[in-house]
Amino acid sequence: MTVTLINALRRMKVVNLPHDVYCAALGSCACVEIGRGRRVASSLTLPSGSATGGLDEAVLLVPDIARDVRAGELRVRREAPPPAHAREPASAPRRPADGAASHPGAGSPDAHRPTAGRTGRKKAR
Ligand SMILES: [Zn+2]
Repeated sequence: MTVTLINALRRMKVVNLPHDVYCAALGSCACVEIGRGRRVASSLTLPSGSATGGLDEAVLLVPDIARDVRAGELRVRREAPPPAHAREPASAPRRPADGAASHPGAGSPDAHRPTAGRTGRKKAR
């Protein structure tokens, strides 16, 4: 699951993503290589008043971020998949009528065959 962080402050925020916290939670290293095999923790830039989405939940484990979230400086929005199943039943009661009407059309695969067959015969003759 991914999360969106919203910077509620009027200034830009840059948060470090420490290897032993962020990478460990992530399950892979997201650090930035700076040459000669040296790596530094990657950082997250959160522009003022904007939402940064597509972040791994691991960011919530970073102490700096957790603290800012508690302080209300950062807002977290979890990007849970929308309950698509809950939506369908709501609009379903009215649809069956339409669905029934369009179901004969569902026989179109069958209707398609004869047509194809006819054209085939026409071509053959
Ligand atoms: Zn790392």
